[in-house]
Order: sequence, then structure tokens, then C-alpha cells
Amino acid sequence: MEKKIVQDTLFLSQVSKAASQEDLYLARDLQDTLLENRETCVGLAANMIGVQKRVIVFNLGLVPVVMFNLVLLSFDEPYETEEGCLSLTGVRPTTRYETITVSCRDSKWQKQTMTLKGFPAQICQHELDHLEGRMI
Ligand SMILES: [Zn+2]
Repeated sequence: MEKKIVQDTLFLSQVSKAASQEDLYLARDLQDTLLENRETCVGLAANMIGVQKRVIVFNLGLVPVVMFNLVLLSFDEPYETEEGCLSLTGVRPTTRYETITVSCRDSKWQKQTMTLKGFPAQICQHELDHLEGRMI
């Protein structure tokens, strides 16, 4: 189900907790909310829909990918950029990495390791920051 986007920065600045299989329902809510906001949004963290668990969704090509409990394993090729956020107004400067490798649980709770490059990697890093309570 589509959820309302949280804009309370006090709530968003808290660190999200590990997700469990009981949180698998979030995959659907995150995908639905991403779809509803597709004109202005390419990724979401669960706290942006009001749940402080380590779950994100982002567009990988045409497919929305949901990741539970993702961990950044490695990163390479830093660059400076600017990003906006559905929860905030304006854009802010940040450093991102062109290539990252993450491990996570997928929406069937299977362990996955994935290497991302370019824009999907950038979105993933933005959402990872949300899980740590960092807003870019
Ligand atoms: Zn954001």
C-alpha cells in the first residue's frame, strides 16, 4: 500500500534497526510508494514511510529492488555530486562512489551479494545514509 512520505527530520535522523522476516511486508509498501512518487523519486528508505528498519527500495533499470539489512562491503572511485531527497527541499553536496558491493537479504529473505555501478549505486548510497540517520 502507498504510504505518506515522512518529512520530520528528528524522526529521520534516528538510526534504523535491523529488519527481520516479520518486516517482509515492507517490500510491497516501499515498492508501491516508490511507484506513486516515480516522477520525483528513485529510491526510498523504510524510515521515509515511517518504519525505522533497515530496508530500502530503489530503481535498478526498470525494476524496483528491495534490500533488507544491507551492508556496504566495498566501494571504489569517489566523486563529488549533489543530491535531492523526497523528504527534504533543495539539494546538498556529497561524496559518492562509482562502484559499490553490498550484501543483503532480498524480498524472499535470501542472502544476496550485489555489485552496483553508476546511478543505481548512487541511489543505494543515498538510502544507506537514511538508515544511519544521515540526510543528504
Ligand atoms: Zn533521501
